[in-house]
Amino acid sequence: MTNPFSRISCVKVAVNEPLASHTSFHIGGKARFFVSVYSSEALSRVLRIIREQDLPYFLIGAGTNILAADSGFPGVVLKLGGVFKRIAHRDSVLCCGGAVLVNDFLNESLNMGYGGAEFLAGIPGTMGGAVKGNAGAFGNSMADITDSAVVVDENGEKNILSRAELGLAYRQSNVENGSVITSVNLMMKKANRRSIQKKIARNLNLRKVRHPAGYSAGSFFKNPPGHAAGKLIETCGLKGASVGGAVVSEKHGNYIINSGKARAADVIALAEHIKKTVRKKTGVQLEEEVRLLG
Ligand SMILES: Cc1cc2nc3c(=O)[nH]c(=O)nc-3n(C[C@H](O)[C@H](O)[C@H](O)COP(=O)(O)OP(=O)(O)OC[C@H]3O[C@@H](n4cnc5c(N)ncnc54)[C@H](O)[C@@H]3O)c2cc1C
Repeated sequence: MTNPFSRISCVKVAVNEPLASHTSFHIGGKARFFVSVYSSEALSRVLRIIREQDLPYFLIGAGTNILAADSGFPGVVLKLGGVFKRIAHRDSVLCCGGAVLVNDFLNESLNMGYGGAEFLAGIPGTMGGAVKGNAGAFGNSMADITDSAVVVDENGEKNILSRAELGLAYRQSNVENGSVITSVNLMMKKANRRSIQKKIARNLNLRKVRHPAGYSAGSFFKNPPGHAAGKLIETCGLKGASVGGAVVSEKHGNYIINSGKARAADVIALAEHIKKTVRKKTGVQLEEEVRLLG
């Protein structure tokens, strides 16, 4: 199939692009078309072609909560860039493009003397991805700071969703798969820069102590009600368990690490082993937080 997006400006298309280069797991086969979109007009046109040609598509942020299949993806993987990386503000409301990195947003709010988002320090990914999965840590989440978001659905319809309409809950939102969060409005609070910096440093330090380094997608499973997934996995003696190149971290039971040569199939087999063992030994059913691409 020839590249159907070749006539659209503000778009970059890579054919047979390895997804391993676009995910924090460093795993994944090739996407037939990897389409980077730099303007709103280009996004509308790309979505229109996807609809007209009935192509499967998947929107990727920074790929930090994704496991891409070894067989890759036979359709279009969309990634936002360009105007979607802009940050603007109106008084204490910061408007971040969907492709703004969490870290860049935090730096900008710190520079402007706005606090309230320090819990995000060290969470990789984009602001669009953070809203989609209601990213959070240390008892806070995007639900605490999100005012509204602009969402373009698969039909190209643009809607502004209020916080209530976004339905932000534990690692989930009402944003449909395939809909694109093009920007998010965040309610910030004026704060002393030094105190913001201190909170960020403390959170980064806590993460360094608790979380393992290495290629991963962060916590692999959601915490089941009343339990910490990592503790359950540890209690079941699964730390260090491995399949192929996929290993349960010795430091944190809820992290599956790609030791360098893992395939998605290894990660999936290890995750199944974890789920089965935890269910058998504790009666608790784990559910993946990480999303499968392909
Ligand atoms: C080392 C490490 C630590 C982590 N720690 C945490 C943590 O403490 N707390 C936490 O919540 N998460 C954590 N994560 C997971 C991950 O960083 C977050 O889930 C993050 O918000 C995902 O953003 P992303 O841009 O990488 O999204 P991706 O992984 O690219 O995509 C995730 C999902 O969001 C969708 N999506 C992405 N961008 C958009 C958009 N613009 N519009 C609509 N949908 C979109 C994708 O389609 C996909 O369904 C961690 C990950 C790593 C690797």
